[in-house]
Amino acid sequence: MKKGTNLFDLQGRRALITGSSRGIGLALAYGLAESGARVVLNGQDEARVRAAADKMNSAGFAADYVVFDVTKQPMVAEAVDRIEKEFGPIDILINNAGIQRRAPLEDFPVENWEAIVSVNLSSVFYVSQAVARHMISRQMGKIINICSVQSKLARPGIAPYAATKGAVAMFTQGQCTDWAKYGIQANAVAPGYFVTDMNKPLVENEEFSTWLCKRTPAGRWGQVEELTGAAIFLASEASNFVNGQVIYVDGGLTSCV
Ligand code: NAP
Repeated sequence: MKKGTNLFDLQGRRALITGSSRGIGLALAYGLAESGARVVLNGQDEARVRAAADKMNSAGFAADYVVFDVTKQPMVAEAVDRIEKEFGPIDILINNAGIQRRAPLEDFPVENWEAIVSVNLSSVFYVSQAVARHMISRQMGKIINICSVQSKLARPGIAPYAATKGAVAMFTQGQCTDWAKYGIQANAVAPGYFVTDMNKPLVENEEFSTWLCKRTPAGRWGQVEELTGAAIFLASEASNFVNGQVIYVDGGLTSCV
């Protein structure tokens, strides 16, 4: 175990971050890279993920990328094995890829339910299992799942999203229960409301924005860079005895009614 400030150092570590061509995933990639990690970016849109990796490399960080759809289990398993073989061991996994679909529950299209469950929940199982098999052989690893304030609070029109994020919080505890004995720590970061493409309709909705700023003790939207501290902590040796926990980074939203 490193001492003092070095506890948060990620030099020599490699992190795979799913859904990191933009938004929260890309911000987390920069945060980990600033602490010394090599990162492997992922997305489905090759041009977008390549551009993100090129920009990181030009800024002096070490970034590779792999294009795969996190909902396609065989593609996930093949990509994870390829990363391990061609780039090197995945020490840190952040399960970040996620989607949102909004509609009243009584009208919610079945295909949107299936898409949400697939991207937000099944993928966490597929990617984690593929990566954990390698981590288990090394007897070490850090898994960080991206939950949400919707892991414990519902809102109108997003019941399926809330169901997946609640499930990911519980799955985090399950990962800890099964894998702690192999030196793996599995924890989660639960963001409040952050300005990203996913939340564009909400950011542009003045009524929602006013409500949110009143509802949040911090009185504002979060900026994606504000999620990096929790991720660095959970990716580093500083959290070696922290397991199965969800850290809410939400400006206090879940602390009050
Ligand atoms: P975003 O801006 O919409 O970015 C989503 C990322 O996921 C993109 O890089 C996208 O890449 C990737 N992605 C989507 N489906 C994928 C798939 N099937 N396979 C591989 N990559 C896929 O979203 P965000 O707001 O940053 O959200 C990131 C995570 O944080 C999600 O899990 C979300 O639920 C969670 N979260 C967000 C907020 C918030 O306020 N924004 C709050 C709480 C939780 P492509 O474009 O290439 O598909």
